[in-house]
Amino acid sequence: MSETIQNIAPSLKLLNSRLEFPGYQNYIGAYLILGEKKALVDIGPASAVKGVLTALSEARLSPEEIDYIILTHIHIDHGGGAGTALKSMKNARVLVHPRGRQHLIDPTALWNASVETLGELAVRYGQIEPVPEEKILTAEDGMKLDLGKGVVLELYMTPGHAAHHLSIFERPHGVLLAGDSAGMYTDGALRLTTPPPFRLSDYFTSLDRMIALQPRLLGYAHYGCYPDAMVRLRAAKEKAQMWYDIAQAGVKAGKTPEQVAQEVREKDKDLAYLSTLDKDEFERDYSLFVTSIHGMMTAKL
Ligand SMILES: [Zn+2]
Repeated sequence: MSETIQNIAPSLKLLNSRLEFPGYQNYIGAYLILGEKKALVDIGPASAVKGVLTALSEARLSPEEIDYIILTHIHIDHGGGAGTALKSMKNARVLVHPRGRQHLIDPTALWNASVETLGELAVRYGQIEPVPEEKILTAEDGMKLDLGKGVVLELYMTPGHAAHHLSIFERPHGVLLAGDSAGMYTDGALRLTTPPPFRLSDYFTSLDRMIALQPRLLGYAHYGCYPDAMVRLRAAKEKAQMWYDIAQAGVKAGKTPEQVAQEVREKDKDLAYLSTLDKDEFERDYSLFVTSIHGMMTAKL
């Protein structure tokens, strides 16, 4: 999946932002949804905006034609570039979970948390520029966003990966854009992303809500859109239970997150892909994996 634009449905494309640092070429993108109005789901970090603009021009669209930037959540790799993008996407408004709103207006705390969690990677992702308050729309659970030409997006709160996470469902084509709420799918393997503070019951409830929508296609933020959405959502549930059980047993036995990660790696066959990655991709995935295990170890039910 190395092309810049992936056509998923007549009204839906995935724009690869092709970040310019090693290991991140097929990792971050923006879903472009085309009705009479046009929406992007997850703009990516500031350093991805250039790539999104390039892909838009390849799709013969000008940045001014974008009406909405919908954020699945405000983590730097999803929403960090919203303020930067608005400088070109002058007619766009940013649709975000109510709990994310204030962090877009004043991203100081979000930036500090990003640096603390991601270190040098946050710097490579780029500074988070503020979003003017008047450009922000607040999402509601069950909200419908009519883009015209029969394209209606449904928004559902799907906390778990983050408390301020939402997923987007396009019913006619059965496409669910799940952000990070159903794990990530890289190099042919499903891996959960469950950083602290993680709540297992929210995560399960959100997966059940997404299963109830009976989607056909599942769009991961990292990375790509795939068929068999129901199988994928159920697999995420099973894996969450498995990781949680191992993590909690590890806590009882006084193990470190690294030791528990090693044990999960031995028991979860999907994680065999980790040993096939090149150095840059391994660094990208392994530290996030250990962070996710830490989330499972400190999880509240
Ligand atoms: Zn992410």
